[in-house]
Amino acid sequence: MTTPPNLSNGRSYLAIPGPSVIPDAVLQAMHRAAPNIYAGELVEMMPGLTADLKRVARTKHNVAMYTGNGHAAWEAALVNVIQPGDKVLVPATGRFGIGWGEMARCIGAEVQVIDFGKSSPMDMAQVTEALRADKAHKIKAVLGVHVDTSTSIKNDIPALRAAIDAADHPALLMADCIASLGCDRFEMDDWGVDVMVTGCQKGLMVPPGMSFVFFNDKAEARRAELPRVSWYWDWTPRAHAEQFFQYHGGTAPTHHLYGLRKALDMIHAEGIEQIWARHEVLARAVWAACEAWSTEGSFGMNVKDRQYRSHAVTSLRLEAPKATALRDWVEGQIGLTLGIGLGMADPGDPAWHGFFRLGHMGHVNGHMILGMLGGIEAGMRSLGVAHGKGALDAAAEVIAGG
Ligand SMILES: *Cc1c(COP(=O)(O)O)cnc(C)c1O
Repeated sequence: MTTPPNLSNGRSYLAIPGPSVIPDAVLQAMHRAAPNIYAGELVEMMPGLTADLKRVARTKHNVAMYTGNGHAAWEAALVNVIQPGDKVLVPATGRFGIGWGEMARCIGAEVQVIDFGKSSPMDMAQVTEALRADKAHKIKAVLGVHVDTSTSIKNDIPALRAAIDAADHPALLMADCIASLGCDRFEMDDWGVDVMVTGCQKGLMVPPGMSFVFFNDKAEARRAELPRVSWYWDWTPRAHAEQFFQYHGGTAPTHHLYGLRKALDMIHAEGIEQIWARHEVLARAVWAACEAWSTEGSFGMNVKDRQYRSHAVTSLRLEAPKATALRDWVEGQIGLTLGIGLGMADPGDPAWHGFFRLGHMGHVNGHMILGMLGGIEAGMRSLGVAHGKGALDAAAEVIAGG
């Protein structure tokens, strides 16, 4: 095969699992002069933003906004319900579950991790068992990641609720929906989730910089029992702001609010059910291609059972160092950036070059997904990587309605 000329000029596609593709309309909404933070449009925007965020989360309860990334929301959620000496239970299915638990340890919690490894979903029987063993109810919260972005495992949150209820245990159910909100179905109130955290830069399609903690009355009652919560992280004034600055604990993230307003308009115009359906079909197209590639050579999907696969991110392997070579090829040659592997091997370990991820979250459509898959096929051909045939046909069949 001869080397083609460089084909990367044109619109690039950042297909990493966050930050995701930013819609032009969101960028345009942010491109404006600095607004007044004391009166006018920005101030008047807040009740609508709050209501529309809750609609996406499917909750009628509370939301607190933070000018920070997902880690900020993790910490905010923890410090409002956990005090030093409390216990938290972490059923982990990847790097992000482990990470949230490490953060709980840093604020003085005793952390019990049940590690389900890197390719399996939570085993709910083990969660129930751990809670039953906690007769003194020292465990105050169960930290469950809905979609772990490192492994691309999607956990069954209603089943996690049922596992807590089966133990008749009062621990709060706290869900990390940073990678899943606005991509995979999530129903905070119907599923009995007490606290949910998310960020703005994945399914919500806004540049990184804002994050959100949703909490219900049970979580709010727990917050009221704590002797103190630091001024900045306390969710109470943010969720029940009487003055504009209280929503943000100081100066508002002005331009992010305009971007978020536009993104929420786009989400509600499309409809959340339709957004979930779009992500599902696009994910099935990705899986169809990946399953075909997996029939030969070293290409492999991390999650075998479709039921436990995210609709927003797909974790893959390709014999080291071919995964890195493939990422380099598609980025340099056709303007497509794929995600690095995360949490599967240590950076510096040669095995690290055997993992990669596809981000298909947020502002993505059929032609972007087909283009991404076609680019991966071309890259494997150009690099002489052995792979199964028929991947693009299989993906097209899904997009066509098959
Ligand atoms: C991205 C992500 C995080 C971390 O968010 P940051 O904005 O990078 O701090 C946490 N949990 C999950 C599931 C994520 O996808």
